[in-house]
Amino acid sequence: LLSDDGTLNQTVFAEMTALATRTGAINLGQGFPDGDGPAEVLAAAKRAIGDGTNQYPPGIGNPVLRAAIAAHQERFYGIELDPDTEVLVTAGATEALAATILALTDDGDEVVTFEPFYDSYAAAIALGRAIHRTVPLRAPDFQPDLDELRAAVTDRTRIILINDPHNPTGATFSRETLELIVELAHEHDAVIVTDEVYEHLTFDAPHTPIASLPGARERTISISSGGKTFSTTGWKVGWATGPRELLSAVLAVKQYLTYSNAAPFQPAIAAGLGLGDDFFTDLREGLRAKRDILADGLRASGFTVMTPSAGYFIVADASPLGFDDAQELCLRMPELVGVAAVPITAFVRPQNRAGHESLVRFAFCKQKEVLRRASAQLQQLR
Ligand code: PMP
Ligand code: GLN
Repeated sequence: LLSDDGTLNQTVFAEMTALATRTGAINLGQGFPDGDGPAEVLAAAKRAIGDGTNQYPPGIGNPVLRAAIAAHQERFYGIELDPDTEVLVTAGATEALAATILALTDDGDEVVTFEPFYDSYAAAIALGRAIHRTVPLRAPDFQPDLDELRAAVTDRTRIILINDPHNPTGATFSRETLELIVELAHEHDAVIVTDEVYEHLTFDAPHTPIASLPGARERTISISSGGKTFSTTGWKVGWATGPRELLSAVLAVKQYLTYSNAAPFQPAIAAGLGLGDDFFTDLREGLRAKRDILADGLRASGFTVMTPSAGYFIVADASPLGFDDAQELCLRMPELVGVAAVPITAFVRPQNRAGHESLVRFAFCKQKEVLRRASAQLQQLR
């Protein structure tokens, strides 16, 4: 995030992963799976390398992947897209987010996000010299207050940036909240940008993308990535979809950030997007079982657990254990019990820490055995 003088600090994920590596702790900090994704996807990447798919792909993305992204949006959400003008491949969701924010904002425009927020949002907004307004999400359910949401969006708002399902809280937005966001975007002529990288990791109900709501499509840029769905976070294949005029502005910026990336991985992610329904069901169910193992372990260790309805992470309150400062706890936990995690305060600005100080984010996208070992070690905090 940003330090007091406005410079960019090392990300909390890099910091906590370095700490875990140095101490040999189990890394439940940075959200990445410790196993490989589907064999078909890995094999497709190897084939693509062997076939010579190793030079710059088109800036807009490999046509096979663009077609697969369009087909995926139609198959799961009934959203029809023209793969040649309404789909853009990016270097992960991170580049899609940065290019979108840089493309659509001028100095002093406002971007509204929820808070806590994924750390790259604040950095991209600052790089674009836009102004960051936030709507709080409070424990235990992390749902926005609709009056606070209404008050945050004004004629100065250029982008309403949502993250659904949400990192770090694992919350998913209700239909009512999504409808209000669409209504406010119309009222104030704002663009909706939605980060849906956890779209397939939902435990309660299937994901509803905001772009599928009436009146949303023409003013929404939807962003996702193959990293979470196919357990390939290091491949950095992401995408943005949306109306041609908005997307061409994003492409104009994107071409000067990376131009293009991940040549052999693009057709491999295309293969993944075309996998059968069983793959997506097994992914969800497998992760739900992992969530439950870690949630039980955290409860048995004395944490108050806020059970997530989606994503990779559990937020747990350490105050029942006598730890009121999660930042301090996360710095000490690797030494104390051999487990690394991330404080929720890393996802909020210093002035808005109240209510978040004792909350810790634990990743459960790890082998069950690792989660059981972490759970046993966490009991020593009691
Ligand atoms: N958005 C959210 C909410 C995330 O948690 C992450 C990290 N996986 C990203 C974006 C970045 O995605 P990518 O690795 O595809 O750039
Ligand atoms: N999205 C991952 C997380 O929230 C981290 C990605 C990164 O290290 N930038 O843990």
